[in-house]
Amino acid sequence: MNINGDAKAVRTYDAIVIGSGISGGWAAKELCEKGLKTLVLERGRDVRHIVDYPTATLNPWDFSHRNRMPEAFDQQNPIATKCYALDEGTQQFFVKDAEHPYVQEKPFDWIRGYQVGGKSLIWARQTQRWSRFDFEANARDGAAVDWPIRYPDIAPWYSHVEKFVGISGNKDGLETLPDGEFLKPWELNCVEKHIQKRVAESYKDRHVIIGRCAHLTEPKQIHYDQGRAQCQARHLCYRGCPYGGYFSSNSSTIPWAAKTGKLTLRPDSVVHSIIYDDAKGKATGVRVIDTHTKQMTEYYARIIFVNAACLNTNLILLNSTSKRFPKGLGNDNGLLGRYVAFHNYRGNIVADYEGFEDGYYYGRRPTTAFMPNFRNVDKQETSGPASRFQRGYMVAFSAARANWQRGSSQDGFGANFKDKLSDAGAWHVFMMMQAETVPRYENHVRLSTEQKDPWGIPQLVTSIGYTDNDTKVMNDFLEQGAEMLQKSGCKNIKPYDDHRNPGLDIHEMGGVRMGRDPKTSLLNAHSQLHAVKNVFVTDGAAMTSTGTQNPSITFMALTARAANYAVSEMKKGHL
Ligand SMILES: Cc1cc2nc3c(=O)[nH]c(=O)nc-3n(C[C@H](O)[C@H](O)[C@H](O)COP(=O)(O)OP(=O)(O)OC[C@H]3O[C@@H](n4cnc5c(N)ncnc54)[C@H](O)[C@@H]3O)c2cc1C
Ligand code: SF4
Repeated sequence: MNINGDAKAVRTYDAIVIGSGISGGWAAKELCEKGLKTLVLERGRDVRHIVDYPTATLNPWDFSHRNRMPEAFDQQNPIATKCYALDEGTQQFFVKDAEHPYVQEKPFDWIRGYQVGGKSLIWARQTQRWSRFDFEANARDGAAVDWPIRYPDIAPWYSHVEKFVGISGNKDGLETLPDGEFLKPWELNCVEKHIQKRVAESYKDRHVIIGRCAHLTEPKQIHYDQGRAQCQARHLCYRGCPYGGYFSSNSSTIPWAAKTGKLTLRPDSVVHSIIYDDAKGKATGVRVIDTHTKQMTEYYARIIFVNAACLNTNLILLNSTSKRFPKGLGNDNGLLGRYVAFHNYRGNIVADYEGFEDGYYYGRRPTTAFMPNFRNVDKQETSGPASRFQRGYMVAFSAARANWQRGSSQDGFGANFKDKLSDAGAWHVFMMMQAETVPRYENHVRLSTEQKDPWGIPQLVTSIGYTDNDTKVMNDFLEQGAEMLQKSGCKNIKPYDDHRNPGLDIHEMGGVRMGRDPKTSLLNAHSQLHAVKNVFVTDGAAMTSTGTQNPSITFMALTARAANYAVSEMKKGHL
């Protein structure tokens, strides 16, 4: 057994995928379907669909702390506990601060999920396509570098992904937020519809829509074939969904890849670096540290997909040094780790709405109302020293009744308590922004020269901050959002800056950006490293700008596109 295990041939595959999260799952699915013997390496433990969701059906009173985390946990995990989705029912899927240290040169809240499925288990599942304006923006205003692709290059891949994932949404016909392959949409409630109407009456360029999200409102055969079923509107998704009602790698792409018989999934395997062969002029495999034994093993393949999520992908490439690439794999221009960007979530507004006392809603809808970006969409519109800013923001908001659905977090006892729970209170509105940040050279990650992680790998240094532009964008949202709510008849409108650190948006992007010119970018239009064509990067690290939309559907589409390209190149003998 040991002799076989050590043989190089046994550790040789057609393809290696690093990471089993949202993008890695897609790489595995596409490559296995095309017949490639594929090894997926995942640093975290295995999480099997359904059997490893221990809290999925628990009620608040089944938890030791009523689904809240004890104070000691909060104190030990000041970064992870900032994430709204971490509670007693979900904490098993979040990285604990002390276990995976990194160096914050500037404050950066790095929220991670290290397990089979990655953050696909704990994402919020909002899936808005990018528009043509987003891919053209850099060329238009000169920020960063031009994207090497345009919307028509990715549109068929959005469709390909959406059909398999199952995206609920309404065809709204908006150029700023293209329609996709949608299942039945969720519904706005009466106050949200009222705001939608008032916004449409007051502004020609602003549109309120119901969010598009990765939930099976009306499963099709392809979803049943994955073993998934209709979403029950419980919104306990972050614990893992036993129905497969939302898309995760665990419920969808990984088991699908496994069914082909071509997949080998190796959890507890930290990829240390990619092996570059100077003589062959290409990458030949990866070095892997077993999390239990700490032993290093090499695995080999013809192509390698790096899908460890943006910052870990940067880390792996920076740590992949060789004679040819002393500064990191493919890093001829020294830009690896540079131009990291994120979404600015700092602006929030709360308000009250008086009326609609006879308006109710049922279930826990897993999405919200959205308004696609209406600022600087196809030209620079905002002007003046205080209000001229680049790019814009998407708005998300929801209206809800107080006392409704919050039984677990209210005090009380007996009949009075039950009466109080069934009495829906006044309507409140919560509005937030998701703003684009413009990628800057200064915002970067690099390897620490002094500190190592428990596996002997250099820790990542994060040096990522806000700019003046980000403050101006936020001020514009606070002003415009308050005005829209005021025009909609809301009262007690309170805009505020929550001063959150970069990172808590959990939409980190860049560092290994795509571009047209190897002098100014790391990847070409097919997500291949310019200098090492058999290495593909298709997670957030590849993003040349951030857009204002939730990014993961774009990562999935880029991954599926690159995987199919890789296979066609292999068939031609180019890889
Ligand atoms: C609470 C929350 C809400 C979110 N909401 C949304 C949303 O509504 N819409 C949206 O688009 N996005 C959302 N996101 C972001 C979304 O989860 C990420 O964009 C997405 O998961 C990124 O996919 P990925 O494949 O790059 O990374 P991940 O899904 O994080 O997967 C990366 C995998 O790589 C593994 N890995 C890392 N390093 C190594 C290594 N050295 N060796 C081996 N394996 C490694 C990790 O353990 C992990 O399993 C949300 C995230 C969170 C946490
Ligand atoms: S809301 Fe839908 S997807 Fe989420 S846990 Fe419930 S059934 Fe599953």
